[in-house]
Amino acid sequence: MALLKKILIANRGEIALRILRACQELGIKTVAVHSTCDSELMHVRLADESICIGPAPSKQSYMNIPALLTAADITGADAIHPGFGFLAENEDFASVVQQHGITFIGPDPEHISMMGDKINAKKTMESLGVPTIPGSSKELFSDDEILEEAKKVGFPLIIKATAGGGGKGMKLARTEEEVIEAYHMAKSEARANFDNDRVYMERYLQNPRHIEIQVLADHHGNAVHLGERDCSLQRRHQKLFEEAPSPGVSEAQRNQLGNLVAEATRKMGYKGVGTFEFLYENGEFFFMEMNTRIQVEHPVTEMVTGIDLIKEQIKVASGQKLSFTQDQIVLKGHAIECRVNAEDPENFFPSPGKIVRYHAPGGLGVRVDSHLYAGYTVPPHYDSMVAKLIVYADDRQQCLMRLKRALKEYVIDGIKTTIPLHQKLVDNKEIKDGQYTIHWLEKNLDNLD
Ligand code: ADP
Repeated sequence: MALLKKILIANRGEIALRILRACQELGIKTVAVHSTCDSELMHVRLADESICIGPAPSKQSYMNIPALLTAADITGADAIHPGFGFLAENEDFASVVQQHGITFIGPDPEHISMMGDKINAKKTMESLGVPTIPGSSKELFSDDEILEEAKKVGFPLIIKATAGGGGKGMKLARTEEEVIEAYHMAKSEARANFDNDRVYMERYLQNPRHIEIQVLADHHGNAVHLGERDCSLQRRHQKLFEEAPSPGVSEAQRNQLGNLVAEATRKMGYKGVGTFEFLYENGEFFFMEMNTRIQVEHPVTEMVTGIDLIKEQIKVASGQKLSFTQDQIVLKGHAIECRVNAEDPENFFPSPGKIVRYHAPGGLGVRVDSHLYAGYTVPPHYDSMVAKLIVYADDRQQCLMRLKRALKEYVIDGIKTTIPLHQKLVDNKEIKDGQYTIHWLEKNLDNLD
């Protein structure tokens, strides 16, 4: 089956550049779209064509569906790649793109909508034999009902928005006294952020790791898993540092969980790339949610499998069969990714501005996915992530040493970044030993030196 011919990249920054690179290596033409403040983005310069789609606020540009469709129409693009964030998990966008005879590089809208509702996603997984975090998704109206249900779930518990994302809309309740207020707060936060106030309760795990499994499926009923990523190092439920394989997961566990989710992917008839997120505690995995798009941390999986996930995404969207079986996927070595954010590493305040000096690290096993260059101005309107430093080596210890030297080489002057924080992390004994859970970073942030 022939590949798609011209892809419109409905995104910006490093992921837009990442998609453009994959397209160019596949011989596919590219269309960059950008807001008025983004004309100097690296991928806009490198794309075959570019179109301005609106003003800086993303609602009026990167999330402006009529503008994106018009841009695809004018340029004759036969596909749209949404990247992550913006419209990547918007089922209305996926279906309207398809209705216009354009290929949406992602799963079917039904799967986006099924997984976009986390209560629904958990129920689907339970029906497919995948274990989920114990909890309750009953609609609760009175304070008595809330208390009653909370006691059944047990304390501590967490209240989450069914339409949640980006770590927002979660409230912890440690005791019966806290739960009613937490419930109402979660509901109003969910309404304000996601326009949907349905919430659910889950047992709050005290010491889990965040483990996620990457899957890939074609349109012909084939699905494989590509092992796990450990994304436990988080601040405010946002990932900062990811690695593959996880220092806490054995080969037998990987194979068992991986095969279970690959089977679930097949049974659902899911297509494209996807990630099943789990919390892992005391030898047990509990499903949390599924992301129906490419993830920020996909490069660590690419490094240990040698598989280019964006190219595979484009190939399966073109209708091609997977060119490898589960047995042919071999995990080798170790990879770590550090998210470099334009933020003050002390207080995490955003730090947009002009890059006056830029030098990216290099050498064997070092990959930098970034749109930065000297003279570029990081605008204040978007996500603060400006680069991903990904390091690969034969084993975890060598990988950490390589990461340490790559971080030392990295120069980004003019703005503040999270590089100094990563430098402290690689020198930390518990990180070196792989002994960390999702709460580790917040507990240790103030005494990392
Ligand atoms: P989002 O879609 O907003 O990222 P997730 O459901 O993926 O929300 O949760 C994000 C993070 O929040 C998890 O990686 C974990 O650190 C924390 N978290 C979520 N649910 C629980 C839970 N039941 N117990 C403990 N921590 C949790």
